[in-house]
Amino acid sequence: MTRGAALALALAVTAACFGAALQQSRTTAPAGGRQESAEPVPIDPREVVPLAPVRPAKDAGERALAHARVLCELGPRHTGQPGWHAQLEYLERHLRGLGLAVARDTWTDRKELLTFTNLSVTIPGRVPERIVVAAHHDTKCTSGHPDAEHNFRFVGANDGASGVAVLLELAAHLQRHPPTATVQIVFFDGEESLDWAWNEAARALFGSKRFVKQHRDRLLLDPAAEPRIAALVLLDMVGRTDLHIQEELFSTPRLRTLLWSAAVALGVQDRVFRRAETASDDHRPFLDVGIPAVDLIDLAGNPHWHKPTDTIENLSAASLETSLALVLTLLPAVEREFVLAKPTDAETRPR
Ligand SMILES: [Zn+2]
Repeated sequence: MTRGAALALALAVTAACFGAALQQSRTTAPAGGRQESAEPVPIDPREVVPLAPVRPAKDAGERALAHARVLCELGPRHTGQPGWHAQLEYLERHLRGLGLAVARDTWTDRKELLTFTNLSVTIPGRVPERIVVAAHHDTKCTSGHPDAEHNFRFVGANDGASGVAVLLELAAHLQRHPPTATVQIVFFDGEESLDWAWNEAARALFGSKRFVKQHRDRLLLDPAAEPRIAALVLLDMVGRTDLHIQEELFSTPRLRTLLWSAAVALGVQDRVFRRAETASDDHRPFLDVGIPAVDLIDLAGNPHWHKPTDTIENLSAASLETSLALVLTLLPAVEREFVLAKPTDAETRPR
């Protein structure tokens, strides 16, 4: 994960973990070659949809923190590392233990010659239309860079493990409280840019780009057999002790309003939307094909982002629990407005 609007255009040839490439700020190029019609603007915080607060089971935050601790102890978890293999095994074992069938999608990127794996589980609802809830499981590669300050031990407690840990507790919750819409929980690989600086077009978001392409291909082949993805809820860096989920401005405005409304319902407004800023992330490939998406991300002003201090000591059970509660409170509203109501306005219609 990397900074959005705050990064200036940085053109430099920099050898990265796996090679060298031209670097560029993540916000200077429009997504998918499209022209962005207007600068995204923050929502009106006075517009609040009344939502019923949904809180996770007792100790869900502590359990999420325990998952994150285990993952950090595995060390770096980008592809090829021992921790990458061990993490996939840990996730599969835990999810199977919850009684879920785990889909493992492994592929080799032909250009990078790197092997990636997305994992997913599906919790069926009464309707087949899906809400995808996702996080990335890879950690930033912090070795082999020409710039010495980019080489250090990095375990990605917040940037990687926190989102994964919340998804594990979400899966456990939804197994006990089945949703109305089908929920697909996805662990994306290859979110982080292989170059030190963000390189969205070529060398980042591998897992989410593949996931969206597979969905589009299946839709073309047999639209009746591929359930619609009604919306994406993305988690990235959601466990910092001083949690602050920014208003991520690429996210679909109505979903931002619902997320803000969830924060109001839970009484955690102090943790949400004090800052508004764009951040490119795994939601971009979804938005590019017209799937509404919201990114819960704590990037703007985060002092530990891509730093050696992104460790378990800077996560808290309370923050992980807050993020899980936000998702649990948000999901019924997304079901109601994006699945059952089948929106037809231009913003949410798939292109
Ligand atoms: Zn990152």
